[in-house]
Amino acid sequence: MTETGRVRAVEASGLLADSIRASGLKVTGPRLAVLRVLDQAPHSTAERLYATVRAELPGTSLQAVYGVLAAFTGAGIARKIEPAGSPALFERRVGDNHHHIVCTRCSAVHDVDCAVGESPCLTPSNTSGFTVQTAEVTYWGLCPDCQTSTLTALSTPAPLSNEGAQ
Ligand SMILES: [Zn+2]
Ligand SMILES: [Zn+2]
Repeated sequence: MTETGRVRAVEASGLLADSIRASGLKVTGPRLAVLRVLDQAPHSTAERLYATVRAELPGTSLQAVYGVLAAFTGAGIARKIEPAGSPALFERRVGDNHHHIVCTRCSAVHDVDCAVGESPCLTPSNTSGFTVQTAEVTYWGLCPDCQTSTLTALSTPAPLSNEGAQ
């Protein structure tokens, strides 16, 4: 790593530590590691975060990662989303009432900005007397990769064996 690269990495981890501290939590090795991975791979499951964190901190358990995620969501520095049929996903982008679009084939998840920029971004036709704080929308569809592979599957006859494939 170049000197500049090293300095940047140290700064980045300082910023992560700052945001943990600012949320009122103590900075620990596992918390720093989980937050760093979450920063690079938003919409990750606990298992996926665990696989990456374990490479960095071999002593970390899956249970510890779940504990860190619970602390993060409780302190408001991470958000948990649960699209139907998917395990819980975690991300650092919080507090902006953004929504998600999910691929029905490969489960890829992307952010969709809040339609009006503030919560709740949808006005219910009937609130049944409730006060409304947030609205969470999940859009479902096919991601660009899956659209391409669907088109390819339709236009190319399936090869009879692997040897026939190009
Ligand atoms: Zn897809
Ligand atoms: Zn998101």
